[in-house]
Parts: sequence; C-alpha cells; structure tokens
Amino acid sequence: MTDFSKTKDLFHLPEGMIYLDGNSLGPLPKATAARVAKTVTDEWGDLLITGWNKAGWMAQPTALGDRIGRLIGAEEGHVTLGDTLSIKVYQALASAIDLNPDRKVILSDTGNFPSDLYMAEGLVGSLGRGLELRTVAPEDVLGALSSDIAVLMLTQVDYRTGRMHDMAALTKAAHDKGIVTVWDLAHSAGALPVDLAGCGADFAVGCTYKYLNGGPGAPAFIYVAPRHIAGTRPALSGWLGHAAPFAFDLDYRAGTGIERMRVGTPPVLQMAALDAAMEIWDSVDMGALGAQSIVLSEAFIAGVEATCPDLQLASPRDPNIRGSQVSFHHAEGYAIMQALIAQGVIGDFRAPDIMRFGFTPLFIDEDDVGRAVDSLAGIMRDKTWDQPQFKTRAAVT
Ligand SMILES: *Cc1c(COP(=O)(O)O)cnc(C)c1O
Repeated sequence: MTDFSKTKDLFHLPEGMIYLDGNSLGPLPKATAARVAKTVTDEWGDLLITGWNKAGWMAQPTALGDRIGRLIGAEEGHVTLGDTLSIKVYQALASAIDLNPDRKVILSDTGNFPSDLYMAEGLVGSLGRGLELRTVAPEDVLGALSSDIAVLMLTQVDYRTGRMHDMAALTKAAHDKGIVTVWDLAHSAGALPVDLAGCGADFAVGCTYKYLNGGPGAPAFIYVAPRHIAGTRPALSGWLGHAAPFAFDLDYRAGTGIERMRVGTPPVLQMAALDAAMEIWDSVDMGALGAQSIVLSEAFIAGVEATCPDLQLASPRDPNIRGSQVSFHHAEGYAIMQALIAQGVIGDFRAPDIMRFGFTPLFIDEDDVGRAVDSLAGIMRDKTWDQPQFKTRAAVT
C-alpha cells in the first residue's frame, strides 16, 4: 500500500504553490536533477560513444517501457518508448489500419485531443486509398461501431472534461465487429488503474510528461498486444526498429517483438529524467492511487459546489466514469484561472470556457484541496478575477 503522505516529499514544489496541473506537466522529482547530471557528466562526458553499450542507453526504451507497462497492465516486453505522442499515434494507427486492409473507416470521437485527429487526417491523406476519418460524439461511439470500420481510435480520458470511456466494454464491442482498437492513455497512465491485457486492447500509446513526471519533452510510449506484434508493420520503419540495426542492410527487416516500434536514436537525457520519475512510480500501487484520486476529486467538487454557485461542473459526477481531473465551466474561466494562479493555485484553462484541475495523489493532499477551494471561493465572492491583468491571454493557456 502506497503511503501518499510520504511521496509528496519526493517532489520539488515551489513554496506555497498548490499544483493542480500535474495532468498537463508533472512536477520535478527531487532526484531528477542529480540523475540527469550524472548521465551528462559520467556517461556522456566520460563514456562518450561507449555509453550506448556501457551505460545501457540502447536498452533504455524497452527497460523503461516495462516499468510503464506495469502501470497500464501491459504484458512484459510489449511497451517501448520514443518520439512524441503525436508520432506514436500515427505509428499505432498506421499499423492498426494495416491489420484491417479491406475496411475504409477510422472511427474516433469529437472529445479526442486535436493532435490525434490531425495525425489521423494526415495519415488518411498520405495513404490515399479512400480512407475516411469519422468522428461522433463520445456517448455515441458504442452505437457507431459497424463492420465498415477498420480502426477505433479513442483517448480513454477526455482532456477537457475528464469523461472516461469504458475501455473493456468498447474494446470488446469493437472486436465483436472485427475492429482493431488504438487507445490513447495520455490522461490515464499514472492517473488511474489501466488493464490493457485484461481489456484485450490491440494498440495503446501515451505520454510520460503528464502524470508520469518525466519532464517537458519526455518520450512517448507505445504498446502492441502480443498476438499482433509479429504481424505488425511498424509504418515508421527507422533503423533502430530494424532486426539488426548495425548490419546496415539496405533493406528493412522489422525487429522481433516491440523493438520494431522503435524509430531512431532515443533521447538519452530525457530517458534519464524519466528513469528518476519511475523510481517513484515503481512502488506505487495503482489501485490505491485511483482510490485516493477519487477522494481528492470528490472533496474538490463538494467544496467548490458549496462555495461557488456560479461554477458549473463540466466533468461527470460519477467518479467511476471520470479520470483524475475535475473541470468547471464559467464564461470568465480564463480570468478566474489567472486570478487563481496569481494566488499560487495552478490549474489551467481550455477553450471555450473550461477551468481544469488535475488531482495527483503523489503530491496533492486533502489540505491542498481545501486551500484551493478557499482561494477559488474568495476569488468568486470578491470578483477578484474582474481586472484587466487577468484577461490578457498568453500563448500557452
Ligand atoms: C497531451 C496529448 C498529446 C500531445 O502530443 P505530443 O506529441 O506529446 O505533443 C496528444 N494526444 C493526447 C490525447 C494528449 O492528451
């Protein structure tokens, strides 16, 4: 059982700040700076090119992949890391389409993160064989599954509202119609228990800079189910996914296992940062984390609804169909969030009117939730947000 009163001390959190944005960029583990410095000086500095073998750089993507795999219920040896999530979405989707060559439709939903939809549009355009990206409202996905669909591509937890799809039920319904699934776990990995193997998921992807605290620019992960790996064409067929990269063959031959989903040189310094974060994650019980996330989110919703009648809950009320974030609507949401940030309570804003708060039990506790509610209540009561400095939009919201 994870003791969440102890994990908070493992993170560097600025004095007085309540950070409810670990769903967007996780905070810095205290061990990260020394871990990265060691890789820079002892490995890059002293080992130079021999670091690929001596320091295990080449093995990092799959070694770290397995540690992430434990958090998402993947079979061992079926997760690897590299590139960014948008790239891994493209790769998983291209590979999934290949498994259903006679069908023409990719189904997704309008709650998906735009980059996933953009990557799908780009792929459809490049393949040029009459494929179509079809999007329906999130609640209509189940009813829209039909036998003309090649791939169902969904993000499990909606980045704006926290609404969560039933991965087990949708995967089963998709399989019943011969549809291959691609699950994006960007807002699931490190946020709630996920059971890829138990759900029979086909492909999954996600990022490591959100809940997993790997740092800005940390690599993405990709999962391919054991039953598919031998028949998966990696689409992005880079040299490090080749069966024998250092044979320098002129012809591509996919590597065995998940290694084939690698593309190019791994980001070694980012992997070192992620390694430090995984030292923390290695001992976290995901069931306990999910339960504590619900305790914190429920306390926040109750506190806000009791003190801020003008804010309207944008997330599902049932915690079992909600990820580890809570969102509220308000027409002045941007200004309110800026006023809150000025008081050291950090959430974020998503157009058109959503204020978003992430709950991350590793470093947020019930006291923090109480203080965040008090700040928000004061801002709403005194209309503190109604000042010009809170209304100018920055480039990154
Ligand atoms: C955060 C996020 C991304 C971001 O992709 P990057 O390539 O890492 O910038 C993509 N998809 C989803 C669902 C996300 O939540």
